[in-house]
Amino acid sequence: MPNDFGKLRIAIALSGLVVATLSTSCGDGTNVDGVDAGPAALSDALGADGAPAAGGNVTTLEFLGVETGIFGMSEYLKFSLPENAVSFTISAVGEESFLYSLGEVIDPNAVKLVEFSQDPSLCVSCKNRVAGAEEAAAFLFPITPTVGLVGGEYSFIVTSYFLQQGMMQAKPSKVDVRVHILTSTPGSGTAKPQSGVVDLNFHFTGAGGITAANAAENEKLKLAIADMREIYKQVNLEIGTLRYRDVSEDFKAVESISGKGNELAQLFKLGAGNEGGVNVFLVTSISDPQAGGAMAIIYGISGGIPGPTLLPGTAGTGVAVVADVTLGFDGNFGAVMAHEVGHHLGLFHSSEAPWIGIHDPLPDTGENDTSNLMFYAGDAYIQGTDQANKLTGDQGFVMLNNPVVHLHP
Ligand SMILES: [Zn+2]
Repeated sequence: MPNDFGKLRIAIALSGLVVATLSTSCGDGTNVDGVDAGPAALSDALGADGAPAAGGNVTTLEFLGVETGIFGMSEYLKFSLPENAVSFTISAVGEESFLYSLGEVIDPNAVKLVEFSQDPSLCVSCKNRVAGAEEAAAFLFPITPTVGLVGGEYSFIVTSYFLQQGMMQAKPSKVDVRVHILTSTPGSGTAKPQSGVVDLNFHFTGAGGITAANAAENEKLKLAIADMREIYKQVNLEIGTLRYRDVSEDFKAVESISGKGNELAQLFKLGAGNEGGVNVFLVTSISDPQAGGAMAIIYGISGGIPGPTLLPGTAGTGVAVVADVTLGFDGNFGAVMAHEVGHHLGLFHSSEAPWIGIHDPLPDTGENDTSNLMFYAGDAYIQGTDQANKLTGDQGFVMLNNPVVHLHP
């Protein structure tokens, strides 16, 4: 058993598979492209899903009830990373209306993987890019092949900010912090994952007439899943088990995506108790009164980049996708799902809008490549899979690092 972690408790050490859920949101405040936003939650990482053929193991370390103090900063939290770690994910689940991020993350060689950022919602200059999120946030390491993990002791600081009328200020909070460490199977060394399987937990609000009872036969959903499979095949990521659940029709139209009591967070919390997989919520519309006006058409949103995939039922665990063709677009429902699930697993937009000038941290994604699945603009990924929706090797690297993905041995 790992020792001397102070407050750290070993919650689980499971082998054979990983249970997790995710949520992603475009954490960079550039949601006007109509593609993202959201919170949700899921499960107990305890391996209840018994998925076969997992090639990785996940260990969860918990630091519960961490206080961030008057400057909105925790003390240094420490953990030991084994030599055969493939990735680790830090999650922070706290209070409504608080935004959580990481102040610093320092590796055993004193390299700062994360440094304090002016913008806690997104640190573009950080060696390992991190995006803060409201109420429930998650941070994946490595988020790019240019970051290498080494075994040994890591130290990090969790930060908290209070969001009031769009203004963020450091404020003390209490937050549950977890570190999920994904390790390779003994004997396989630290070779990066080559392929994996992700399960999807669908939640139906009645949007598109799809319900748990008819989902397996619904042509629209079947086509969307087939498209997703085709897109993810590029990076050797399979779609595994599909699970269906009906949820309240009250959330058919999601009318708020941030702030206290927002509907997106409430919707994502309905994913509590799910088995491991990405929670997908189908809705009729998603709107953001904060954004106002015509720019606020949103086709899909993720509870985080990545989302807290192994924690079903949080405000950030899930993606919401519009299933009805009522917003003037008749594009590829499956590609929108693939884009949002991509965020939830840890993919940033390959490129934001030209006037923003931000690109993802991956070496092999071309700048302003409109054919990439993760290009910011909806018109790229709502095309047919034969026209766009490209994923690169580095994007696959990120997706397979997410602990919700079952790795092939
Ligand atoms: Zn997006």
